[in-house]
Amino acid sequence: MVRHKDRADRATVEGVLDPRTRRILDRLMSNGYLHSMQGCISTGKEANVYHEEEEEELEVAIKIFKTSILVFKDREKYVMGDYRFRKGYSKNPRRMVSLWAEKEFRNLKRMYLAGVPCPRPLLFRSHVLIMEFLGEGGEAAPKLKDVKLDGQSWQESYRQTFLIMRLLFHDCKLVHGDLSEYNLVYVRRKVMVIDVGQSVGPDHPCSLEFLRKDAVNVRNFFSSKGIPVLPLRSFFELVVSPSLSEETEEAAKEEETDQQRSGQPLTRTEEAEHDVEEGVFLCSSFPQRLADFKDAEREIEKLAEGREGQDFRNYGVMTGM
Ligand code: ADP
Ligand code: MG
Repeated sequence: MVRHKDRADRATVEGVLDPRTRRILDRLMSNGYLHSMQGCISTGKEANVYHEEEEEELEVAIKIFKTSILVFKDREKYVMGDYRFRKGYSKNPRRMVSLWAEKEFRNLKRMYLAGVPCPRPLLFRSHVLIMEFLGEGGEAAPKLKDVKLDGQSWQESYRQTFLIMRLLFHDCKLVHGDLSEYNLVYVRRKVMVIDVGQSVGPDHPCSLEFLRKDAVNVRNFFSSKGIPVLPLRSFFELVVSPSLSEETEEAAKEEETDQQRSGQPLTRTEEAEHDVEEGVFLCSSFPQRLADFKDAEREIEKLAEGREGQDFRNYGVMTGM
């Protein structure tokens, strides 16, 4: 049932919607899934996000993907390796965009069920995705990039972000692929992850490259907040390590402490060594796929033992490639 008041509300937001999108929203409204659209939270390159306010029920966010093919050309690299796109990159932008909305819906569902802090997915119709609204008092939750926190809370957010990456990797078999302070939001002292349309599974040939890129973004952001962060490689290894034993955590902490040495800056040589190591890590290629990870923990240990002088291409060891 559509309320009269809502019709007026809708008219304002509908001004920017194409007739097809409007029809989808109308149908959702007459089926009782939606009641009104209050306002636009974000107009992005790929999607616009709206907020629906409900007095008693769940507040929802409505993500409407744009149907411009230009935007989705960018996304080709994420689409390969996904069986739904196996027949190639559709020439039909509408079809392509609705597959994209479906992909985000499915990824969110997998994440939500695994307990990843993310919005609960509710439904999708064509290029329209409806999910739980993250925020308070009708205000959308701020992105991590816009939050002001003290050192301790940044440290805690760093930890939460790391755990999100681990949960995604191990429990959801997903790599976010666009993880950064732009796609992490902060709700009641909790870091939550959004925008998972491009997240890829283990079959994707670039899954580890994407994971490394995510790790770089996370490292750069938290390091810019002045908190001690793990060297990239250790961080990466901790994300992919199957079990987070006390030993691995301790080793990582030690490395962190070494690095920070209670606030003492690194010497030039140490800094240079770090740079070289990170440079090698950044330039190395991952020939294998995540799906091929077998007995990764043992291999990581092996790798750690004889780490010196080796570059990250050694991850090939894990897959026997
Ligand atoms: P894109 O970056 O592709 O445009 P996002 O999924 O990142 O799309 O959404 C854009 C913005 O909309 C986010 O940065 C966030 O501010 C807001 N947003 C997205 N999903 C939600 C949600 N479930 N609850 C509240 N705000 C959201
Ligand atoms: Mg985004």
